This record gives sequence, C-alpha cells and structure tokens, in this order.
Amino acid sequence: MAAKKLIVANWKMNKTAKEAASFITDFKKLVFNENPNEIVICPAFICLNESKKLLKGAKISLGAQNMHFEEKGAFTGEISASMIKDAGCKYVILGHSERRNYFSESNELINKKVKTALKNGLKVILCIGESLRQRENSETMNIIQNQIDNCLKTVGGEGIRNVIIAYEPVWAIGTGKNATPEQAEEAHQHIRKILAELYNAIVSKDTRIIYGGSVNADNSKELFSMENIDGALIGGDSFVV
Ligand code: PEP
Repeated sequence: MAAKKLIVANWKMNKTAKEAASFITDFKKLVFNENPNEIVICPAFICLNESKKLLKGAKISLGAQNMHFEEKGAFTGEISASMIKDAGCKYVILGHSERRNYFSESNELINKKVKTALKNGLKVILCIGESLRQRENSETMNIIQNQIDNCLKTVGGEGIRNVIIAYEPVWAIGTGKNATPEQAEEAHQHIRKILAELYNAIVSKDTRIIYGGSVNADNSKELFSMENIDGALIGGDSFVV
C-alpha cells in the first residue's frame, strides 16, 4: 500500500566483483537523478564492499542474500549480520526458497536469523510462498500462515516495522511462469489479514509486501497496479544487461 515501490534485485550466485562493479557503474547512471522507486541490489557477499563504494551517493541500497543467525564464532564459511552491515548492507534477504530447498532452512532457523538481523539494525526481506503441489492441494493460505507465524515468532511490534514480506510462490521462481496479478493480490491480502491478527491494523497496512516470481519488464506494470503489491523481488531479470 506504500506509494513508492520497493524493487529488490536478487543476483543469486552470479557476477564476480569485477562484473558487479561494471554493472553497477552503468546501472546507477540510469537511476541517479530521477528514481520514483526504492531500489535494493543484493549481490554475492564478495561483491558487497566494492558495491558499497560504487553506490555512494546513489539512491540505491545494498542488501545481502543470506547471513548466519549467530553473532560470531566457529561457523566455517558463514557470514554474520554485523559483517554484512559493515559491508554496507541495509537489507538482508532471509528465507528464500532456494535456501529452504537446497540448504534445508526451516522456519525455525529463519526465525533465528530474522531476530539476529533485526537486532543488528538490518531490514529483513522475509521470503515466503507455497510449492506447486501445495497450491494444487489448495494449501497456499495455510502455508503462508504457517511460515509467517513461525518465521516471525517473538518478533515484536518494533521489529516488524523493519520486516518486508516477499510473497514468492516457489513454482514461479526462475520458471518464467509468474502468478497472475489476481493470484498475487489474493495472497498479499491474506498476508495483511495475518499481520492484522498477529499485530494490529497499522502494521497490516504499513508493512511492505512485495511479490517475487519471474517478474520482468513486461509483467511488472500489471502486478504493480494491484492495491496490495508494494514492489518486487526480482531474480533472473535483475542482472541481465
Ligand atoms: C527470486 O530469486 O527471488 C526470484 C523471484 O527469481 P526470478 O525472478 O528469477 O523468478
């Protein structure tokens, strides 16, 4: 319901630091002066520091694609909330379906990450969404309810103000098959209802709910025309030049 759309680019495991720098250098020229939307770029961890330097002064924010739930310690290969914050991130994507599916991330684990991210002053882009089988079994609304209940467990009224919900039906991610604007709108309305029950009417109205799943230049206008779609989380189409 926010006037400004939030557009988040999830670059996934693409682009070296050099490639990211070249893309950002060109891209920021397009949005430097006139930018009616809020844009967040989420490159690989290794590109964050250089991206931060290049984005200085540009109206584009930086986000990470993941983080560990512990503050620090013996977790080989992991990265912490304070590390990504220090590297210039304002946002972090948590609970992406690729993390849930390929790295067995559960709602309980995601809940720990959400709380650590919020404690460290990061804004969380929390991904939720049903699989194709779940949609076909008419389980979509229950899955959404379950993911929100568990991922946001003990996240209070202050914390929720820094959470963005990304509704991403798993069957639409990277498949070229997006949800219709009506399907997305129905899910977003349901998310607002859940937020009203869990928190209150103000949280329900103010929380940004963005849609993700094969969004591109052709289908974004129609999706954005829906009352409850506050922006998009874009994968494949966000790093193509
Ligand atoms: C995503 O990675 O969150 C995503 C929505 O990807 P794509 O736009 O490629 O479907």
